Order: sequence, then C-alpha cells, then structure tokens
Amino acid sequence: MSDQAPETTTELEPAPAFTTLQLPAELQTSLADAGYTEMTPVQAQSLPVILAGDDVITQAKTGSGKTAAFALGLLAKLNVKSFQVQGLVLCPTRELAEQVADEIRKLARAMGNVKVLTLCGGVPSRAQIASLEHGAHILVGTPGRILDHLTQQRLDFSQLNTLVLDEADRMLEMGFQDDLQAIVKALPAKRQTLLFSATYPRAIEQLAKNVLPKATRISVASEP
Ligand code: ADP
Ligand code: MG
Repeated sequence: MSDQAPETTTELEPAPAFTTLQLPAELQTSLADAGYTEMTPVQAQSLPVILAGDDVITQAKTGSGKTAAFALGLLAKLNVKSFQVQGLVLCPTRELAEQVADEIRKLARAMGNVKVLTLCGGVPSRAQIASLEHGAHILVGTPGRILDHLTQQRLDFSQLNTLVLDEADRMLEMGFQDDLQAIVKALPAKRQTLLFSATYPRAIEQLAKNVLPKATRISVASEP
C-alpha cells in the first residue's frame, strides 16, 4: 500500500454478475446470448428476493431493467412441459405489453418452446381466442382485455403461480384499479405477486395493501 494521497478514482461498487445467481443453466445461456452480464442495481436488489419466492414491490426509474428482473423470476420456476398458464403480466398499454413479451421471449430462448401470448385491447378478440386454444405458459396483457377474456371464461388460471403488475403507477393513472382488483380475485390465492413502478403515488399503497400486503419493498434511488 502506498502512503501517497489516493488518486481521484471513483470507487463504484462492482456490479454483480448474473452468474452469481442460482438460475437454471438455460437462463444463464439466454442471458449471455442477450449480452446481459452484469445486473443493473434494481436487478441486483430484487432478484434474490424474487428467486426466493417472496412478493416484492419494486420502485425504480424507467430504463433500469425491471422487465428482466420479473422475466427471470417467471422463467426460473416455469414448467415448460406443463402447457398451462403459469404467469400473468399486466401492463398499462399494448405497446408496453409487446415489449415485455419480447423481453420474456428473448430470455426464454434457451429453454425451448416457451409460449408467451399477448392479450391487449385494440386488437380483435377473435385471433386472441384462437391463440388461447393452442395454450400458453405466460400471458402478457392489458387489464381491460384480460378481464374481458376472464369474464367470458376463456382463461384458466388454476395453475397460475405468479402475477406481475408492471408499471403499476400508470395502470392506476389510467383508471384500471377496479379491473386489477377483479382480475386478482380470479387468481389462486397461493401465488407470488410482483409489483413494479417508476413512481410510488398514494394510490399504489392502497393497491399494495389489498394485493400484496406482505411484500418486501425495494426502492432504487435515481442518481442525482
Ligand atoms: P424498465 O422496465 O425499468 O423501464 P427495461 O426493462 O425496459 O427497463 O430495460 C431497459 C433496457 O435495458 C432494455 O433495453 C434492456 O434490454 C436493457 N437491460 C436490462 N437489463 C440489462 C442488463 N443486466 N445488462 C444490459 N442491458 C440490460
Ligand atoms: Mg418497465
């Protein structure tokens, strides 16, 4: 050790690698193929909790990598051989749902035939009904359309083990509160619930109290 004044280097915490996580080998392969080596801060904080099976409320700004955090949680416990809906991701808009579905598909690539289906408004229901008949492992959709299919008894959630509320702040802003509550009522009570949000308005607290009261809370501060 030198006794000189330290150089003005910024000593950042080393970003942990995905390889430090207990993930199925196929997911490690997909991560490497996607070029994801180091976890983002929100992934490093939330993934150990998610993989342990706990409910989690995660607040972190847009672009921080929240999608991969819940996608890995969904995929790590997915039974590919059981062609039943095991995960449901609710998103505020069709565009976001498509992005989320693409990210899940990217990370599922090395697992074989994982079927991720999007169910959103603004698209005719007819094609969605046909797709549903072929089965899916994970559904990604907007609350209105999911509730519509649910009311028409087109969805079987009996084997569902994970619910993700993505961009929960925006879903509440858009008035989806009642739809969310109605969907949650139709899901198995024994499940893991993951809520992600860029902001944490008061309305989320009410939703959290009703839907995932025992969740671990993670908040990743934005840099100044
Ligand atoms: P958020 O949902 O928090 O707004 P996203 O999940 O959309 O953020 O991620 C933002 C971008 O970061 C995406 O383009 C995604 O592919 C990329 N990304 C996520 N995690 C990693 C990672 N660990 N390494 C490199 N890129 C990543
Ligand atoms: Mg997001």
